[in-house]
Amino acid sequence: MLHEPREIPPETRAPLPAVDRVLATDAAQLAIERYGRAATVAGVRASLDEVRPAWRAGAAVDVSPERIAAAASMRLEGESRPSQRRVLNLTGTVLHTNLGRALIAEEAIAAVVAAMRSPTALEFDLSDGRRGERDDHVRGLLRELTGAEDAVIVNNNAAAVLLTLNSLSDGKETIVSRGELIEIGGAFRMPSIMNRAGARLVEVGTTNRTHLADYVEAIGPQTALVMKVHPSNYRIEGFVKETPAAELAPAVHERGVPLVDDLGSGVLVDLAAYGLQRERTVQEAVRDGADIVTFSGDKVLGGPQAGLVVGRHDLVRRLAKNHLKRALRIDKLRLAALEATLRLYRDPDRLAERLPTLALLARPAEKLKALAARFRPALADAIGPRFEVEIVDLESQIGSGALPLATIPSGGLAVASLGEKGGGGALQRLAASMRALSVPIIGRISDDRLNLDLRGLDDEHALAESIVELGLATAAEDAE
Ligand SMILES: *Cc1c(COP(=O)(O)O)cnc(C)c1O
Repeated sequence: MLHEPREIPPETRAPLPAVDRVLATDAAQLAIERYGRAATVAGVRASLDEVRPAWRAGAAVDVSPERIAAAASMRLEGESRPSQRRVLNLTGTVLHTNLGRALIAEEAIAAVVAAMRSPTALEFDLSDGRRGERDDHVRGLLRELTGAEDAVIVNNNAAAVLLTLNSLSDGKETIVSRGELIEIGGAFRMPSIMNRAGARLVEVGTTNRTHLADYVEAIGPQTALVMKVHPSNYRIEGFVKETPAAELAPAVHERGVPLVDDLGSGVLVDLAAYGLQRERTVQEAVRDGADIVTFSGDKVLGGPQAGLVVGRHDLVRRLAKNHLKRALRIDKLRLAALEATLRLYRDPDRLAERLPTLALLARPAEKLKALAARFRPALADAIGPRFEVEIVDLESQIGSGALPLATIPSGGLAVASLGEKGGGGALQRLAASMRALSVPIIGRISDDRLNLDLRGLDDEHALAESIVELGLATAAEDAE
């Protein structure tokens, strides 16, 4: 036979231990205490299954009960870590959809915890003891903050658009500019959503120019809505004509057609006050004459995932009565978080202190560079002499479709490989080691550098600990 030398004759090698013998070890007893008997038995079986082929083939594997118990414990520990783990977002995109978008305020977290623990007056009117509507908890706040007559809340903004179109344009036409037929990540394509909602899409204008007359000429007896969509993730530059909502609203109202404005990001404050570029607010959209305005709860608004619809009372009531609303409704936990978040907006002076998303976005670049200088030595130490770590100027993005091309000056660390040419492989391996940490560090590779943008850093202590762990992992790898 070919690989004879390493094999042990079957009659002399140790037998595979029975599950009970493994369970009797100290390590397995500890595992039972920690993870329960059923999971530990399953872990032991899986560990036995893992070594069996090599053992059968006669390879020199340690199959002592202690060794199998240790392998089972490691497996159980891995399995007990939450799959949706906390990470450090150093990607430079503050509202990163893949990393869960907005961090919510402590006030909102407390509200969620309270709502989880006890029954709540979710759909119950405490004044008369009758059934209430869940959206009532935020309707008043939204009216006050946006100036709109009424509001309804759903699962996310995609749901808000779907519900709006289905409630107001099912079997009828909705007019949209060709320059605004957007696709957002995650397969949200405006034409497909319209189709699903039962609305017939009427495209007007061209990709770069849509005039008021284009909209007006398309209005006919089948027109249910005219819709504007915020181009969240791109911008058309050059010979461009967009018809602003303020110009469009009176013209479509004159013809008895409501105007819908899908804003995407729910900006409720003047971002210029925080050193950021201005973005049209929900209040402005309402003032410009939009009859329905839709936006997300977890973008710049800084709350939980939610779709907010504000606008004209009679139209919003049609959305609230649609049976689809039941399938798209928000749960009590996020509603509690949304209510607490909106309440913070009543005190704009303290908003940047209390709303983590705004706090992260408003941090000056010099502060981030000073922070980078503090972390540089530890990181350089941790990853060793094969890499070079520099303090750099970076450009962060708000993310999730707010001000798509505007960047915010930022600061952080850039890691380059000193070894192989280009260093791509080494950087990829380093990025993988950072993802494998207990609290993973998520950076961004660009131009042969691994950039760690500190704008999105929400916990300096956690980053320091992750860097220490990275150092231990690198040292262990080098020792192998
Ligand atoms: C982000 C966005 C959406 C989708 O919102 P979700 O909350 O992610 O469902 C829809 N329209 C516009 C213009 C957006 O920017």
